[in-house]
Amino acid sequence: MRFSKLYAPTTKDAPKDATLPSHKFLLRGGFIKQSGSGLYSFLPLGKIVLDKIRDIVKQEMDNSGAQEIQMGIVTNAELWKQSGRYDVFGKELCRLKDRKNNEFVLGPTHEEVVVDIVKNIITSYKQLPLHLYQITTKFRDEARPRFGLLRGREFIMKDGYSFHDSEESLKNEFDLMEKTYRKIFVELGLDFRVVDADSGAIGGSGSKEFMVLANNGEDDIVVCDSCKYAANIEAAKRAKKTTDIEPPEADFAKFHTPTPVKDSIKHIAEFFKVDEFYIIKSVIKKAIYKDEEKIISFFIRGCDTLQETKALNACGALELVDASEDEVSQAGFNPGFCGPIGLEDDAEFYIDSELKEEKNLICGANEKNYHFIGVSMFNFKDSRYKDLIQVKADDICPDCKGKLSVTKGIEVGHIFQLGQKYAAAMNAKFLDRNGKAQPFYMGCYGIGVSRLVAVMIEASHDEKGCIWNRQTAPYLLDIIVSNIKDEEQNNFANKLYEKLDKKRVLIDDRKERFGFKMSDFELLGFPYALIVGKSLKDGFVELIDRKTLEKQKLKKDEIFDILQGLLS
Ligand code: ATP
Ligand code: MG
Repeated sequence: MRFSKLYAPTTKDAPKDATLPSHKFLLRGGFIKQSGSGLYSFLPLGKIVLDKIRDIVKQEMDNSGAQEIQMGIVTNAELWKQSGRYDVFGKELCRLKDRKNNEFVLGPTHEEVVVDIVKNIITSYKQLPLHLYQITTKFRDEARPRFGLLRGREFIMKDGYSFHDSEESLKNEFDLMEKTYRKIFVELGLDFRVVDADSGAIGGSGSKEFMVLANNGEDDIVVCDSCKYAANIEAAKRAKKTTDIEPPEADFAKFHTPTPVKDSIKHIAEFFKVDEFYIIKSVIKKAIYKDEEKIISFFIRGCDTLQETKALNACGALELVDASEDEVSQAGFNPGFCGPIGLEDDAEFYIDSELKEEKNLICGANEKNYHFIGVSMFNFKDSRYKDLIQVKADDICPDCKGKLSVTKGIEVGHIFQLGQKYAAAMNAKFLDRNGKAQPFYMGCYGIGVSRLVAVMIEASHDEKGCIWNRQTAPYLLDIIVSNIKDEEQNNFANKLYEKLDKKRVLIDDRKERFGFKMSDFELLGFPYALIVGKSLKDGFVELIDRKTLEKQKLKKDEIFDILQGLLS
């Protein structure tokens, strides 16, 4: 490709809201152009990278036996009503109407459509398993679209859906997809971990995420330093927390504890001279459901933090928000002095599982300025106990005795075992071996294809720009003609270019200064540049490695063979 013809509008500065390297360099390099909040167009260089990633994903998906299809982005709302997700998906689901008032949604994911595609056509276990996938546009009206392609509203996903006649068959495909995804991310050259995940709004049981380790990741992931255990913080577990600090042994009693509501745990710990481990903390939230709101208290140890996704799963709400002091009081909880002992049977509260059957605890007495001491946790129904706490660095691994640490990751893939949830809701059934009608068992599998374009840069860049690897570079080599007016340089560079693979080689033939071309090369991040400059007179050209920025002086007569070697 001739740079003089290429539409790659590079700029020196990035917009202020572009804080991450990938966001900055993709905009500055003219890989993408923003057209609205969370909306981007791919320009020629960006499109080449996107297609390269797409090709790698497609190749491995095809190898796994999955078949590519393409579903529409505009989806009949009726299907979403059948599955029950029309009302519960929340504001991310963009709902729209046509001129005849028919309702539609812009597909944020395509379980409903794909179930409708096989329903009444796949009717027997003999036609199963089947895996259909697509690589297309999704729309999610994200609350905070940010970081460029990392969290857009419109983005490109590879989403696959498998259908099975049994859990076992589903599990086999799930394992095959884990292997397939591993291959894809290895091929892309990414440093990633496969982690246990929360299943979120899609539902189902058993899901794993593929996380690329990156300082700028939005996800916290918990990893063990001694074994393979790794989990998203939303789903991470730990061995039950213990302490060597002596418990405050006392008979059950009510104690006058005048303390401010704010920071009450710290004050109570000081007041009784006990460790926060032995205090029960109440975290009160307003839970939003489809048709109602509830004020819920979550009880955890004073030294722990409430994990919001776990809390959300515990109460089954659509969203948790902060509750005001008035709302808390009206719901019958005493702000700053709320404890599980003595609450009404119908009170809305959950207790962290690690507190089950624990003794020698201190908690609020549900009365201003009073706490209970010598509290034991024996008299609560099992359904009150849920895993509610956020795992922290230095907690103990649930699988071995290793130490856990917390690191940042970017989610690039997510695989789910959905089970029969969607097929049952949409009445999509097959006849099993015994002639009995059963809903399909389903799995679903996503990869953030457009997000990966940005992830490649987060994983590999320097302060000057992108550093693409061979698998994803838009061009492998940039031949820079140092002085375009110099006939010898121009002729040599052009002859070389004509003999090389034009799909992989760019020739910078623009009438620009050398420094300008070099900084574009550094910003755009092609793996190599060949400088055809002053030393050509003496029979030399210079090869630059973008990663190290090291220069190698090479004989002009040998350069063709060297470049052929690099490009092959
Ligand atoms: P996240 O937790 O990052 O919001 P998600 O769990 O909602 O993602 P999935 O429903 O699992 O996402 O979608 C599959 C893949 O699609 C994700 O692993 C991610 O790589 C990609 N993806 C999801 N949301 C976006 C987005 N807003 N912009 C770009 N890619 C996205
Ligand atoms: Mg996910």
